[in-house]
Amino acid sequence: MSILSLLREDLRDFGGYRSARSDECEGSIWLNANESPQPGTAEGTQGLRRYPDPQPPGLRSALARLYGCRDDQLLAGRGSDEAIDLLLRALCPPGAGCAVITTPTFGMYAVCARLHGTRLVDVPLVDGPGGHACDFDTVAAVAQREQARLVFLCSPGNPGGNLLPLPAIAALAQRLRGTGVVVVDEAYIEFAQSDSAVALLDAHHNIAVLRTLSKAHALAGARIGCVVADAMLIAALRRCQAPYPLPQPCVEMALAALESSARAATRERVERAVEERDRLQAAFTALTGIRRVYRSRANFLLVRFEQAQDAYERLLAAGIVVRDMRSVPGLGDALRISIGTPDQNDAVLAALGASAGLARVAPPQADPRDRVLA
Ligand SMILES: *Cc1c(COP(=O)(O)O)cnc(C)c1O
Repeated sequence: MSILSLLREDLRDFGGYRSARSDECEGSIWLNANESPQPGTAEGTQGLRRYPDPQPPGLRSALARLYGCRDDQLLAGRGSDEAIDLLLRALCPPGAGCAVITTPTFGMYAVCARLHGTRLVDVPLVDGPGGHACDFDTVAAVAQREQARLVFLCSPGNPGGNLLPLPAIAALAQRLRGTGVVVVDEAYIEFAQSDSAVALLDAHHNIAVLRTLSKAHALAGARIGCVVADAMLIAALRRCQAPYPLPQPCVEMALAALESSARAATRERVERAVEERDRLQAAFTALTGIRRVYRSRANFLLVRFEQAQDAYERLLAAGIVVRDMRSVPGLGDALRISIGTPDQNDAVLAALGASAGLARVAPPQADPRDRVLA
């Protein structure tokens, strides 16, 4: 069965907007898009008088090489946030349909579903001694019962930091074959130094993987992310996307960030972030007033405090802003702290009462375990 059977029925013959870039013509005088014939005069705008390529082939193939897929299996857009929205719009009829999430998780799945009128069913992650774990059997059963077109998984999880096992993701996709698409949001996978679900695409055409340049590649301001999936699904998503989704300056920045020297620097930065994460995790475990530090495979730590308000205020008093998670069910005592530079991380430890000097000489633990104090 083709993946196209999962598309909204009313969109199966939808061609999307035909932009000036849709027709492939040869020409030397281009008067088909109502662009200005002269460049603008403001500094830096000279190269921008034309509409950009909707999917610049150079960027697409650089991203496809980076993520290990074919060019036609990848759609670039305005961050992976856009991909979440596109998947919902292409697969769920507006005001109907259902998607499964596993809380606590990234908030955009619920925001996009709400805007589109898609009903959400939650199969909460199980908060056990090893961290947050996905109950894949229940996810599969609920998705089947509710005829969910989409299941949103996040690996490593935000905010939990937990990595989902690829064999379980593959088995879920197998069970939902013909009924739904398993979306694996890998915004932080670089920090897990682990295999991507992109490797599962050949065997499972109902998996869609979200990747982004926003986190490990230090390019959040450029808004470049992508969805990697079956080529037919990608083509359908493209028809639902804005005509010119990628601003030219952002494309150029992304290409610069994907050159080999920049990629080497990215790998270095990721290594440092992972070292710092593990150092901070170990240091937190030794602090008093901390209930739990979840083992993280991402570039943040989820920490539960005896006195979360007090911790939040002490950090703020030191000028450090962290993410307050206390409104999230099950995380009423938690803060999420992004990994900063070594000095910034020391400032976090100092504000929370540790001696930063001591914390830094503590040997980094290769495999820090969760410590449950409460
Ligand atoms: C940050 C984040 C994103 C957003 O990525 P963009 O590419 O910047 O839109 C997606 N998913 C998760 C889980 C995130 O934490």
